[in-house]
Amino acid sequence: MTRCAIVPVIVPGYFLFNNSNATNGGYEMMRVDTKSAVMVTGATGYVAGWLVKKLLDEGFTVHAPVRDPHHPEKVKYLNQIAERAPGKIKYYKADLLDEGSYAEATIGCQVVFHTASPFKLNVTDPQKELVDPAQIGTRNVLEEVNRTPSVKRVVLTSSCAAIYGDNVDIEKTPNGILTEDIWNTSSSLNHQPYSYSKTLAEMEAWKLNKGQSRWELVTLNPSLVIGPGINPHATSESFKLVKQFGDGSLKIGAPRIGFGVVDVRDVAEAHFKAAFTPEAKGRYIISAHDTDFLAMAQTLAEKYGDRYPIPRRAMPKWLVWLVAPMVNKAMTRKIVSLNVDVPWRGDNSKSIRELGMQYRSLKESMNDFFQQLIDNGLDIMVDS
Ligand code: NAP
Repeated sequence: MTRCAIVPVIVPGYFLFNNSNATNGGYEMMRVDTKSAVMVTGATGYVAGWLVKKLLDEGFTVHAPVRDPHHPEKVKYLNQIAERAPGKIKYYKADLLDEGSYAEATIGCQVVFHTASPFKLNVTDPQKELVDPAQIGTRNVLEEVNRTPSVKRVVLTSSCAAIYGDNVDIEKTPNGILTEDIWNTSSSLNHQPYSYSKTLAEMEAWKLNKGQSRWELVTLNPSLVIGPGINPHATSESFKLVKQFGDGSLKIGAPRIGFGVVDVRDVAEAHFKAAFTPEAKGRYIISAHDTDFLAMAQTLAEKYGDRYPIPRRAMPKWLVWLVAPMVNKAMTRKIVSLNVDVPWRGDNSKSIRELGMQYRSLKESMNDFFQQLIDNGLDIMVDS
């Protein structure tokens, strides 16, 4: 597959990118001023890792407000990248729930990438563990942006979860496909609380953006993100989902839950393009493949099928309905009813047309991700 066809041309202080994927005459300039800093919240996370690498490789000074700047395990992967890159990383102490804690890190930044937000499905207090950090955190970061005149654009890592709640919602859309015009109206604190948190956070961001005229907001709405992480031990739910294909928990079969899927390296590229493509505007669905859980597993069969218990058949919906809540309390019977055997369809054409996105194959993303899980010995059981 041809990789991203963006070619940098260096002029003093700037990179000018020739984006030959652009459909408007095949040429579009991305003006990237590497002289002023950029901020990435959640830099220690899975999704942010490749973005930080890209920014450091381009020569940016990256301000990284994190909860614990002295946590050796959390910052070591970023430090390793920074050692080999022309850019610099500077850590600051901040927490999404502490008003004002992003002030110092925001100073002097031209672009703010707000990626920090918990992505976990098993929670006991969804308000405290998901909604507050997502919604109050977005408010805190963007109020700091309001107070910082250097910031011209904010790229928010939203999610397809802010567009839909359950797969059955997709069937009710005007053309049976998710687009950027659609909002999630079905999630709540008691049902799909992660999706609810992402919806409230993105709404909060648009509200704050509309209250002023200096900074632009571009939101990226990735589907399920997979692929090898810069930090192979990040807290993201993505690791737990894919690990199940090798640890024997789906040995008798995988539920056919429809998913949109995208590679973490492509998501990083999308963030970069969203920041530096002047015309980028509004929301972007960042999703490469309309697929499902079993089809994802099947991409691993050829290379790993003889050594690992890769699921080979679909688990019937009635059986998923019966056992899933006993195995995983986040997988309620309501979620099974509304999502299993219901296909996922998302329209990624705006990302291809306006950002020049090119997406990796599902097989490449899945195999690279699974190999990383094996290399890091994440308790993957060998099938006997
Ligand atoms: P992750 O690895 O768990 O990263 C979450 C990040 O948020 C971590 O850096 C974490 O910092 C930070 N964070 C959490 N609570 C915080 C708090 N109270 N204060 C400051 N920072 C806090 O998960 P991820 O998958 O990379 O998710 C990152 C973003 O991508 C989220 O906005 C998520 O909704 C979005 N997204 C993810 C996917 C996906 O499939 N993975 C899909 C669409 C959108 P610590 O290191 O200190 O814990």
